[in-house]
Amino acid sequence: MDRVCNKCNKTKSESKFRRNARTCIKCEYRFRQRWLRSLVKDRRLSIEERLSNRAGYMGAGFIMISPYLLQYGKIGAITYIIGGLLCTPQVWVAKQWNLVIVNLNVTLGYLIYLYNL
Ligand SMILES: [Zn+2]
Repeated sequence: MDRVCNKCNKTKSESKFRRNARTCIKCEYRFRQRWLRSLVKDRRLSIEERLSNRAGYMGAGFIMISPYLLQYGKIGAITYIIGGLLCTPQVWVAKQWNLVIVNLNVTLGYLIYLYNL
C-alpha cells in the first residue's frame, strides 16, 4: 500500500513512512537536519568569548574561595580583587552591564578594604 507525503507530494511505499506519520522519512530528516544545523551555528563562540569564558570560570573560583580566606588577613581580599577582574571580560563580551558593575564594585570595594586594613 502506497502513501502520499504531505511535504513532497510523492507517492511512496509504506516503509518510507514512520508509523502514523504523514511526512516521509526523507522530508522529516531533511527538516530535522536543517534545524539542528542552525542550532549548532548559533552556538559557535568567537575567540574572545572562549577566552573570556575560561577567565570567567577562574575568576568564579577565586570569588568562591575568598569568603573562607578573608579571616586570614590580606589574602582573602586579594583573591576577591583577582576574581572580580577575571570575571569582568566575560560579562563585558556578553554585554551584561549589571554584572560588569557588580564585578567592578567587588574589585573596588575590596581595594578600599585592603587600603584600610
Ligand atoms: Zn516527502
